[in-house]
Amino acid sequence: MMPLFRRYSFCVPRLVLLFAGLALAFVIGVTIHDAMRRHPENLPWTPLSLSAPIGRFTGAKMARLTEDAPNCRQLLREAGADFAAAPPVTAGQCGYTDGVRVTPNTMLVAGFEPAKPTVACPVAAALLVWEREIVRPAALRHFGTPIKIIEHLGSFNCRRIAGSPNWSQHATANAIDIACFRLADGATIRVRDDWNGEPARAAFLREVRDGACRVFTTTLSPDYNKSHADHFHLDQTRRLRSACH
Ligand SMILES: [Zn+2]
Repeated sequence: MMPLFRRYSFCVPRLVLLFAGLALAFVIGVTIHDAMRRHPENLPWTPLSLSAPIGRFTGAKMARLTEDAPNCRQLLREAGADFAAAPPVTAGQCGYTDGVRVTPNTMLVAGFEPAKPTVACPVAAALLVWEREIVRPAALRHFGTPIKIIEHLGSFNCRRIAGSPNWSQHATANAIDIACFRLADGATIRVRDDWNGEPARAAFLREVRDGACRVFTTTLSPDYNKSHADHFHLDQTRRLRSACH
């Protein structure tokens, strides 16, 4: 028969290991729970908020708005975005039913030119977050002055993709082309002129392009092809993985 002290010497290390394992699991559980509570945007099952920072699953949640226009408009309202629902448009193979006119307000701090572009709601939602979370801080960091105007080349356009039989996302207002950023001090950062220009300007443009990839399902820049040498094409095509060029 095994002496009592030998049985203890065998069991004590196991018990210590067991308690240490439980304590470690508890600490990990509390840490994960705390991170989830503080950053719901990083979880796939939490609802999207357009007022929240961009998280790991923000882009995927944005993409799902293409199937839920009422929810998309509700999210814009909750974020304090000043917009008006645009009347539905039908033009042959083209048109949209979920258009909104984007106007400047406290959340959307930069104005657009031409003013009040009409875009599909998921594009408006992504523009709002992109402008607030990416464009504005990038301008302050690189130039020390806020963005005043974002110039665009249009949204709705009943046309096919160049060189393709497929309809462009512009045919449903599910895209917008961004050409230039005008700062409050009057400076302009133009995709055509500055993509390969002065380092701070080129860095700013790459930063806002990369940031767009986090909230739009398609982002095409001068890196993609010559057709995009003077603008960023941003859209919310339904796709599993975002296309970022
Ligand atoms: Zn485009």
